[in-house]
Amino acid sequence: MSRADNARHVPDMAGMDQRAVAERLLDWFASARRDLPWRRTYDPYHVLVSEVMLQQTQMERVVPYFLRWMDRFPDLESLARASEDEVLRLWEGLGYYSRGRSLLAAAGVLVREHGGAVPDDRETLLTLPGVGPYTAGAVRSVAFNLPEPAVDANVERVLARLTNLELPARDPRAKEFLRETARGLIPEGRARDFNQALMELGALVCLPRTPRCPECPLAGFCVARSLGVAELRPLAGPPKEVVRLRMASGLLLRDGRLYIQKRRPNDVWPGLWEFPGGVLEEGESPEQALAREFREEVELDVRPLAPAVEVRYSYTRYRVTMHAFYCADAGGPAAPRMNEAVDGRFVTPGELSRYAFPAGHRRVISFVLDDPRLKEFLARS
Ligand code: SF4
Repeated sequence: MSRADNARHVPDMAGMDQRAVAERLLDWFASARRDLPWRRTYDPYHVLVSEVMLQQTQMERVVPYFLRWMDRFPDLESLARASEDEVLRLWEGLGYYSRGRSLLAAAGVLVREHGGAVPDDRETLLTLPGVGPYTAGAVRSVAFNLPEPAVDANVERVLARLTNLELPARDPRAKEFLRETARGLIPEGRARDFNQALMELGALVCLPRTPRCPECPLAGFCVARSLGVAELRPLAGPPKEVVRLRMASGLLLRDGRLYIQKRRPNDVWPGLWEFPGGVLEEGESPEQALAREFREEVELDVRPLAPAVEVRYSYTRYRVTMHAFYCADAGGPAAPRMNEAVDGRFVTPGELSRYAFPAGHRRVISFVLDDPRLKEFLARS
């Protein structure tokens, strides 16, 4: 990319009064700032946990998870001693479970190698599982008040509009420009408040579809607003391909219990529990897929007793319809084989709450626990 090409896409910041922008934003934040649990002490461990939870998840959803987490794991030592099952159970419903596993692994590293403290240097932070440039910048600035940018989707949007950036935010040139613009705006000694103020403005005022420009403290500086293109920034990149999947899963009932199994470490949702099942192959009915998956995964012959429920859910680019069935042994009871799982067991309905399941399976559980047919099928199993 030549300098001339870059100049066509990347705004020139020379005309922006960076000090005035920062002052206006900080004044606004002093009164608009939300009272959030991790903002009460700025304890580095609290900041690390909150930032990892906030990756891909809305603030309102994170707060109860954060409070439960701190209740159970008040410090790095208690987290480092936890089992993966317990961490995943606490994380259940937040999605992107690798974040919970990464926090557990990071706690182990910090306790073993760094005296049980979250470090403030970028290089060490970046060696921790689950910590990338954004999280390292957020921890350094918010926990330690060090002048490091922390550019999340909210900050990208605010800065792309403020400067009228004419590149999709995913473009590497945009990423570089946004990071350096954020860095240049940080007033001396105010990184903590300034970075949070930018994020807060994106979350409360500079909204993705309908920015509330009349309420915005930066309206007088905002280039996209002055050009009437605020809603069009950041530029959208090419749309992500959506993949639709149909799946079948089976609640195998035996001796008053249901069979569940634990996913392997290299699967999607590693370490979570599930009912056996999988994606329908071309031309297969859900019942046929169910029988095939049970033979492949656990080497059991099963027969569907009745459809239990059909649930729809999304993860990353997948839109899933899952057909869940009550089923029974067709070839006589035998021990399930662990062809695609690391553990398997028969549990009572009441014990299901002790295990962490992916969102789709948890929705199946919520339904069947209220379904009077479950008791009948279990009684006959
Ligand atoms: Fe966003 Fe509007 Fe403020 Fe510009 S003026 S930063 S578009 S809310």
